Amino acid sequence: MKFSTKAIHAGNEPDKETGAVNVPIYATSTYADEAFGVSKGYDYGRTINPTRVRLEENLAALENGKFGFAFSSGMAATHAVGTLLGKGDHVIVSQNVYGGTYRIFEKIMRKLGLDFSWIDTSEEKLIKSTLKPNTKMIFVETPTNPMLTLTDLEMISAVAKAHKLISVCDNTFMSPYFQNPLDMGIDIVLHSTTKYINGHSDAIGGCVITSSPDIAEQLKFIQNSVGAVPSPFDCYLVLRSTKTLALRMARHNENAIIIANEIEKNFKDKIVRVMYPGLESHPQHALAKKQMRGFGGMISIDLGSLENAVKFFNALKIFSRAESLGGVESLVCHPVSMTHGAVPKEEREKFGLTDGLVRLSVGCEDCEDLLEDIKNALGKI
Ligand SMILES: *Cc1c(COP(=O)(O)O)cnc(C)c1O
Repeated sequence: MKFSTKAIHAGNEPDKETGAVNVPIYATSTYADEAFGVSKGYDYGRTINPTRVRLEENLAALENGKFGFAFSSGMAATHAVGTLLGKGDHVIVSQNVYGGTYRIFEKIMRKLGLDFSWIDTSEEKLIKSTLKPNTKMIFVETPTNPMLTLTDLEMISAVAKAHKLISVCDNTFMSPYFQNPLDMGIDIVLHSTTKYINGHSDAIGGCVITSSPDIAEQLKFIQNSVGAVPSPFDCYLVLRSTKTLALRMARHNENAIIIANEIEKNFKDKIVRVMYPGLESHPQHALAKKQMRGFGGMISIDLGSLENAVKFFNALKIFSRAESLGGVESLVCHPVSMTHGAVPKEEREKFGLTDGLVRLSVGCEDCEDLLEDIKNALGKI
């Protein structure tokens, strides 16, 4: 089955009892047994909820995985993956991941005895020289936020297999529509469903998908034990949203390609550089074409200084000034003051996250309107 068919039908079979074509919101915390010791397979709402089960089936199908787990946020999903490890374990992580990933690993999991190395995971040699006897996991985000640096997922899975590491990819930026890490040999894929998967900026959520029965069993245990599960209503929202994921992603991609090219071609004097994997000038454009089926809706622009970033920011009319990304509405974010405040200045400047960097989440509006908004704002610099 192809992507849109799966998105619309996986987990969305009509309700057995009534034929309802939409999965009902099972707002229940517990389930009655038919008799002593005789249940219908449902016991308690943290452990299992039918709306959540359907969402998990849907998300697993979209990532070509066997097992899906929904969480109350992307960070809860990341936490669950981190909890697969224990005291004394070492993890190699992409250096410019989502700011919250840096925070949970460094400020929470390090206290519990885990060790992290933050490196440019696009460099195979660097990964190999960072391996320690206690390295257990390699955690990558590709493309990264907000520098849009890519990591070769087949290379990561080969290194992970050779050294018996668990490989993890945060696939939030591409969504399963454009990139399927499990198909490239990665063990675990995770998403903040808050972003493209839900796509309507009205719910916080996360998910983890794997095809490994062993990892799935541990994740199921962690999900139930920690209890960071989404509400049945939020599961319903996300399940509704994936039905249009293909349509939305195609539009995000189409708009972003036009906008990135326009800025690069006609506003050279206003910017230092535009970062977008779909541009031929992107240093990893060839890799982008190899492992992704599109380039997504995220564009980062280095405007040279904080002063320029502020001018651009305040002149935008359609792009809302907000954290987050992946919704149908276009957003603009200033990572240094908004999403990446937790990353120390020396750390972020190492990978080019400067004060003048702004990040666009290109939405599904009419491209002409978005272009006019951007041209006008660049004109103010
Ligand atoms: C937003 C985001 C997260 C965290 O997800 P929440 O739903 O906000 O907890 C993790 N990774 C990436 C790439 C993100 O963009």
